[in-house]
Amino acid sequence: MADRIDKSDIYERFAAVTQQTRELVESMEVLTEKLSLVLADNAKLAIENDHLHEVIKKQHEEKKQEGLSDSRRMLQKLYQEGFHVCNDMYGKRLEDHESCTFCLDAIYGRH
Ligand SMILES: [Zn+2]
Repeated sequence: MADRIDKSDIYERFAAVTQQTRELVESMEVLTEKLSLVLADNAKLAIENDHLHEVIKKQHEEKKQEGLSDSRRMLQKLYQEGFHVCNDMYGKRLEDHESCTFCLDAIYGRH
């Protein structure tokens, strides 16, 4: 027989694959843990974001009744045309249908 299989070689390879599998499972466990943390964080942020939008919407309604000042009306116009008017991103384009909490605050917030 030309290709005699070396048993100890098979054993070594099997041991190596077993070790790799063990490491893979460990990595997956760590990743799963991190993923659930990220998802929990994300859910928390989504709730906070919704809440902030609610608060700002309410301020918006109140402001509508009072009427916006000229400078806020100008910011509102820019925002409606698709530009950020918040401090951090002023003048940059909004993505399609993007809403920016900071812009809304700059236009409608109390400050
Ligand atoms: Zn903005």
